[in-house]
Amino acid sequence: MISERKETDLTMVVSSDMAGQLRGKAMPHSARSERATTGLGWTPTNTFITSFGPIAESPWGALGDLILRPDYTTHVDIQVPEYGVDENFVIGNIFNFDQTRWTCCLRGQLMQALEDLREQHGLVVTAAFEHEFHYSGCEGQPGLGYSLRALRRLGEFPNRLTEILAVAGLVPDTFMPEYGPGQCEMTIKPNGALRAADDAVILRELTRSVARGMGANASFAPMMDPAGVGNGVHIHFSLQDLDGNPVNFDDAQPQGVSKSAGSFIAGMLRHMPDYLCMTAPSVASYYRLTPHRWSAAFNNFGLQDREAAVRICPVFPDADGADYQRKFHFEFRAGDGAASPYLALAALIRSGMSGLEEELTTPQVTAADLTTLDGDTLAEKQIVRLPQSLDSALDLLAASPWAKDAFGETFVEAYLAHKRCESAIMADLSPEEICAKYARAY
Ligand code: GLU
Ligand code: MG
Repeated sequence: MISERKETDLTMVVSSDMAGQLRGKAMPHSARSERATTGLGWTPTNTFITSFGPIAESPWGALGDLILRPDYTTHVDIQVPEYGVDENFVIGNIFNFDQTRWTCCLRGQLMQALEDLREQHGLVVTAAFEHEFHYSGCEGQPGLGYSLRALRRLGEFPNRLTEILAVAGLVPDTFMPEYGPGQCEMTIKPNGALRAADDAVILRELTRSVARGMGANASFAPMMDPAGVGNGVHIHFSLQDLDGNPVNFDDAQPQGVSKSAGSFIAGMLRHMPDYLCMTAPSVASYYRLTPHRWSAAFNNFGLQDREAAVRICPVFPDADGADYQRKFHFEFRAGDGAASPYLALAALIRSGMSGLEEELTTPQVTAADLTTLDGDTLAEKQIVRLPQSLDSALDLLAASPWAKDAFGETFVEAYLAHKRCESAIMADLSPEEICAKYARAY
């Protein structure tokens, strides 16, 4: 199953970019050791290539050089001719020529956030990504959500997928035929945050690859059509100390949420409107983030609530003691597959750190339909409606001193330029046309 590569076979070194795409350069297999240190040449303006063709206005133009260096711990090398799967890629990091991290390397942004969390707070993050997507190769039918009949109609696709993911070293947790016709959900077991984001990138590509091998497509677009169901990417997360001990649960605190986890989540909720354009980065993302879609419309902390931006996940009753502590965790639901997993996780960690720094108190949990509460009640609970369009989310990022401090001014300016260009591409299109474009792009 693991391939025997010819020395001339190409390995693509890729970086997950602002468009949520993997872009990079390929090298012959024979160059792998040399390129481990030298890397490959890369161009700053590439980060402005939108998912739709046009390149956003770049301050760098044709100038500048960067180094894209492979991290071989992420190497995916799988050839299964009978499934039509042939993948050979490795995720890289982007550096300046003085060997410092390039500010627009999203994996680098996440690595820096994790280093700061470790140094400043003595904490690490464990995460697991839960992906929803649409598979085109089956006869979808409303009403068959979660059904055995829907699973059967997916044919060999789910088993091929779990097999190929396992070959790549990912550990599948659950698979479901989701609620929407043709919609699927695949969850991978938790990992350290950086590896969890690598897993998310690898999962998306391998899902597309397996679907393609069956003559079909898999789309992680947030909405396939404005009247349909959303594809979320929910990020499960928990905090550990530097010895790996979980620090999320404290029996003495409301809902068992420890003071440090509570501060972290309070920071996440406070800055969510500022960074939402990084976790829900497409025009179509905002068709999904509306009430009663089981996504998230407010920056609330919910107890087992599938419309909360952050929810406390249930722990199965068989767990006790250390096992319970280990399994007690939270889920961020206001993200989708148009986002780079690295940037999404970096945003959660940076905002969480701001809550730790200020020792914010744990937010009160909600267990109600927030659309039934009046503005005063919401304000009293420090809950706001999340931005309702990409443009308004981008304006909040632009106005956020926290974001400039957390990600750097150059990064924020570049991100705004890219995403404003993307928004302009969609300006004259109907919601149906916009969803169709995103369905193809992701
Ligand atoms: N499809 C929903 C979303 O857009 C999530 C459904 C669920 O798994 O709870 O996030
Ligand atoms: Mg789901």
